[in-house]
Amino acid sequence: MSPRGSEPEGGGDRTIDGMARRVGVMGGTYDPIHIGHLVTAEEASRQFDLNEVMFVPTGQPWMKADRPVSPAEDRYLMTVIATASNPRFSVSRLEIDRGGPTYTVDTLSLLRGKLEPETELFFITGADAMLEIFHWKDPEEVLALAHVIAATRPGYDIARFEREAPSAHPRVDVMDIPALSISSSDIRRRVAAGRPIRYLVPEGVEAYIEKVGLYRS
Ligand code: ATP
Ligand code: MG
Repeated sequence: MSPRGSEPEGGGDRTIDGMARRVGVMGGTYDPIHIGHLVTAEEASRQFDLNEVMFVPTGQPWMKADRPVSPAEDRYLMTVIATASNPRFSVSRLEIDRGGPTYTVDTLSLLRGKLEPETELFFITGADAMLEIFHWKDPEEVLALAHVIAATRPGYDIARFEREAPSAHPRVDVMDIPALSISSSDIRRRVAAGRPIRYLVPEGVEAYIEKVGLYRS
């Protein structure tokens, strides 16, 4: 893995003790990244013994629930700023550099092709996004490419996912995490209304939002 954290490079993709590496992938719009994302990634890395968690910001242009999304470079930079101090976290430009919407299944197969065959892939998602995956493209292929870790999230019924998705599937795990009722939508609304976002996002991200003038109404 290069310290610049772009794509994993082939070769040497084993831990010091010769075990296959375990790599988590966490996709998101990250508009902006917040501590809910960071806690989810950290919990996944601890609970599932991951060597690395790779954050993959979505590409541009992309309308999410009919609102325009901030420029990809801003979302990418905020993700880098937020994850910089954690040696196990990295950020991939894969979807950003492809441009346009990318399906999870395509990202996972691209990564699969770049990693050593024995490296285990884990796709980390919140309960809400988990429900979407199973209504998206090739859910079975997603499960063939990666273990899926579905984190609990306040306001989203993991039981609904249990009914709709094959939760009994050996490749899906539900992960309990400390409940953080934080969303990027709420942070954008707060900035627009001049309310504080301190402690909801890392300090550097708050400073970046302020400096660039993101989310002002
Ligand atoms: P938005 O409100 O714009 O949809 P978001 O807070 O949901 O933003 P996303 O970038 O859409 O953030 O989410 C990326 C991933 O992180 C998704 O899998 C989502 O379920 C998960 N996630 C986001 N916030 C939380 C949270 N507070 N707890 C657990 N998982 C979360
Ligand atoms: Mg979301």
